[in-house]
This record gives sequence, C-alpha cells and structure tokens, in this order.
Amino acid sequence: YDEDEWRENEFENPPVDGNMRVVASHYNELKESGRTERVKSRIFHMRNFNNWIKSQLISEYIKRIKTNQRMGDPMRVLDMCCGKGGDLLKWEKAMITHLICTDIAEVSVEQCKRRYEDIIRRAEHSKFAHKFTAEFFACDSTLVRLRERFKDPSLKLNLVSCQFAFHYSFESLTQADCMVRNAAECLQPGGFFIATIPDAFEIMKRLRASPNGRSFGNEVYNIEFCSDTNPPPFFGAKYQFHLEGVVDCPEFLVHFPTLEKLCRKYGLKLERKTTFADYFKENMDNGRNLLQRMSGLETVYPNRVGNDEQYEHIKRYCKGNTGRPYGSLSKSEWEAATLYLVCAFRKCKNTWDS
Ligand code: SAM
Repeated sequence: YDEDEWRENEFENPPVDGNMRVVASHYNELKESGRTERVKSRIFHMRNFNNWIKSQLISEYIKRIKTNQRMGDPMRVLDMCCGKGGDLLKWEKAMITHLICTDIAEVSVEQCKRRYEDIIRRAEHSKFAHKFTAEFFACDSTLVRLRERFKDPSLKLNLVSCQFAFHYSFESLTQADCMVRNAAECLQPGGFFIATIPDAFEIMKRLRASPNGRSFGNEVYNIEFCSDTNPPPFFGAKYQFHLEGVVDCPEFLVHFPTLEKLCRKYGLKLERKTTFADYFKENMDNGRNLLQRMSGLETVYPNRVGNDEQYEHIKRYCKGNTGRPYGSLSKSEWEAATLYLVCAFRKCKNTWDS
C-alpha cells in the first residue's frame, strides 16, 4: 500500500449520508467520567499519553508564534471541535488572550463553557493564575462558515487547533474543503493550524495485514471498514471506530496528499507531519517531567507501591530507561495510540506562497 494507490477518480464525492448527526449524538451522549473511573479505565495511560502529545504540540506552536511577536501582543486561538474542553487548561497554561470554542455536539459545548467559567472563577482567587476571554458556539465545522459566528467576524487569530476530529470531515470533498477553509481564513499570516488525526497509511497497513481484510484491533480498539478498500476512495473511506469506553462512531480515512492540496488552496503550507511514535521520541527528553505528572504517578499510586509492576514501569520510564518501547502504556494502548499523527500548517501571506 502507498499513498498513490488510491482511486483514480480524484475528488469523487459520495453522497453524504448523515454521519455528522450520528457523530454529534454519540458525543452528546458520552458521559463525563470522574477521575476514579478514568484511573480504572483500560486506556487510562493512553489518554494521558494523548493529552501529553497535545500539550507538546500546542506549546511547540505557541512558542513559535511568540518568537515572532512583541511583548503584550494578543494570542488568539480557535479550538475547532473542542469537545468538553479537554484542552482548556492547556490554553490557560499557554497564556493565551482569547479563545473561541466550537463543536457540533451542543451538550459538549455547554460543558466546555462551564469548565471555562470554573477556571476563570479559580483564577480570580489566585494572583498567579492566568485569565483569558472566550466565546462558545455549537455548529458543524464542515457545513457552516465559522468566522460569521465569531463575535467579531473580522478577528484575526494566531492558532487554530483541531484535536482528534478533523478526520470526520473527510466524508466528502465539500465537507473537508469547508473545514480547511474555516481553519485557514481566520488565521493571520504566520499563524498555525495544528491537528491530530488518524494516520491513514498506518490504518491501511494494519488492514492489509489483517486476516479478514476488513477489520483489525485489539482489546482496547477496533476498526471495521464499511467502504471499499481496494483501493479506498479519496473521500468517504468510512470505517467504524471503537475505542474502549470513549468512541464508537463512524470515521473517515484522511488521504494526506489531498489534505495538503486542500490546505495549499487556502494558503496553508505543510510544516510538519509526524506519527505519534516519532513525535513521542522527539519530545521524550524535554517533555519527560510533564508526562511523569500526567501519568499520574502520585494519583494512581499514592503510596508508591514499590513492587507494583506498572508503577515500576512508569518510574523506569521517567528515569529514561523503560526497557519497553511504550513506557507506561500497555502494548494494546501503544498500538491504539500509534494509529495517529500530528500535523501543522503555516498560514502564508497568499496562496502562491503555500
Ligand atoms: N478536541 C477535543 C479533545 O481533543 O478533547 C474533542 C475530541 S473528540 C474525539 C472529537 C470531537 O469532534 C467531538 O467533540 C465531536 O463532537 C467533534 N466533531 C466531530 N465532527 C464535527 C463537526 N463536523 N463539526 C464540529 N465538531 C465536530
């Protein structure tokens, strides 16, 4: 399998069969699990790992933007497909000035807004906490022009972040085009669009190696194709994705060269495309302390049980010598986490430059 192997009929546009409503109700109905439940989950370490990847990515690009700014310049961010606000603390830590949050799932947007209000309330009682303004609205980013929903539609942003969600737009060319345009048109030149998406290349590689050629997975995730895969279409390459207790809905392969082309059309130039496995290696040294804290050493194993195998793994990992390639993650979690890639695009002055 290689990326040129896709169907010849470029930009084929299959009819949209209402997957977005399915996706929205799936996320709307998802219960917010408490910390105790999360700790017990079989993908606890993978969720921490994914969060850590997002933190590294966000801080990498915030730093790059800041190096070209003057002191006191605003830092405005769009969190496209924000979910329940899983990245709010990252935005607080990045000391941004304004945040726009949007998601198709109305219930999630409401929860995100409440979380933001909690953060701001806490900040009011602390001299050190950082405060930022924010706005929230629910809408389908593959259908609606987001900029028109901003309080100030002329606002120029520094960063657009779309975490674990962009792939839903690859149902059709029209939807993907709309989502890329939404990311690009509100960015000022020099700004970035960052995303985490499933790696279609890795998915196809595992599918080709699977015994039945239709599905594969392990005890924490499963992927089953509902579309033609010989070869897959550019858009609408649909599969059902199941991730232990968190996701169970249709997703679409993102043909990366096509994404790159669409981005170029809107003045976004590819800056990075890195698999999670490689991004982990790249960031292991400078991000070790954060991963250690996120791995929840203190919270999961408060008594630091010396003979607990998992605790030993984390400890060894944090010392930089895990003896296993996937640190504190189980093999199954590592296999699920390495289905993804990070990518970043820089907004150019004009489409010619991209
Ligand atoms: N970005 C959040 C995070 O990293 O925690 C949430 C990720 S969750 C896996 C995917 C999110 O994408 C869901 O909240 C879902 O409602 C949202 N989503 C999917 N399709 C969307 C669309 N067309 N427009 C807006 N949001 C969408």
